[in-house]
Amino acid sequence: MIFKIIKEETKTRARCATVFTKHGTIDTPEFMPVGTQATVKSVTPAMLKEIGTQIILANTYHLYLKPGSKVIKKAGGLHKFCGWDGPILTDSGGFQIFSLKSTKITEEGALFPSIFDGSSHFITPEDSIRIQEELGSDIMMVLDICPAGTASYMHVADAVEITTKWAKRCASYKKSNNLLFGIIQGGIYEDLRLRSAKEITGIDFDGFAIGGLSVGENKADFHRIMSYTSGLMPQNKPRYLMGVGKPSDIVESVAMGIDLFDCVMPTRNARNGQLFTKGGAISIKNARFTENFNPIETGCNCYCCKNFTLSYLNHLYHTHELLYYTLATIHNLQYMHDLMAEMRNAIKENRFSEFRESFYNSTNQDPNEIYRSGI
Ligand SMILES: [Zn+2]
Repeated sequence: MIFKIIKEETKTRARCATVFTKHGTIDTPEFMPVGTQATVKSVTPAMLKEIGTQIILANTYHLYLKPGSKVIKKAGGLHKFCGWDGPILTDSGGFQIFSLKSTKITEEGALFPSIFDGSSHFITPEDSIRIQEELGSDIMMVLDICPAGTASYMHVADAVEITTKWAKRCASYKKSNNLLFGIIQGGIYEDLRLRSAKEITGIDFDGFAIGGLSVGENKADFHRIMSYTSGLMPQNKPRYLMGVGKPSDIVESVAMGIDLFDCVMPTRNARNGQLFTKGGAISIKNARFTENFNPIETGCNCYCCKNFTLSYLNHLYHTHELLYYTLATIHNLQYMHDLMAEMRNAIKENRFSEFRESFYNSTNQDPNEIYRSGI
């Protein structure tokens, strides 16, 4: 068994489920911290375990270039290499490859430069799966083409066509029993999303992702397309919204039936001084924290909040101390973990709609920033 639905809320499309992988199960909805180079920056696997993290994401593009998937295979696979024994999802490298200006796409594959030394590399859909199998990923992603949120209709239509062809090649190449997810593209165009969803969900993947959102489109388009596309995805397989990590976007997407999320935002923003709280985000740089001897959030059970004050974090930030990155990352990941756990409980108790209301009320958000999807 790969996926089991535990409970579906009656007032929204929110659902709570379990995904089964070779390295353990994942209770959903869940947010996956990003470990681009086989490390979630500044925290150890033991710290992630203490937070309650169930699954991490690693980037195929980066690991293929450095240290190379052959080295990781020799090390005994990604889990042994990086010391994380829970599930790992690897992206296909497509998102990074197609964000580079000098990448050239042919029907066969993509020619792209290394961000490390500028050297040229050619990757096919089959290569992407072979690399992810060498890494020993639990959930692999197909190689897709992800155009910018502002791309023209014709450009997105071409991307949809190649994405389907590549998805079929990835599915027929797969040799392992790792899970493989297909990716629906189509930009902000509903007819292209419909076409992509029909073609991709017609292939026997273990789960399906929505790609090509949160890539520069406006907020209204994001919510319109997220809501529309999630409605086109099979009910009995995991649904993953790629690259989305803003808490309010996650809550709204869970309401639309999305199960999995990933984004660098909570960890990157932590390092840049933005800390998440139930009352909204705060900037630790602010002088008002110089003599504030409270934790970031009273009641937060993370190692940072149990042991350190805003004053100390403000000091570490301004003196560029390395410990700041670790403590801030622990807190923001705990915030994400607790948010997801709260949603899972609310769905199980059929009160997700009430949770959603209280979330919006407590975060003091600008009403113009809140989008509802009409359920
Ligand atoms: Zn905390």
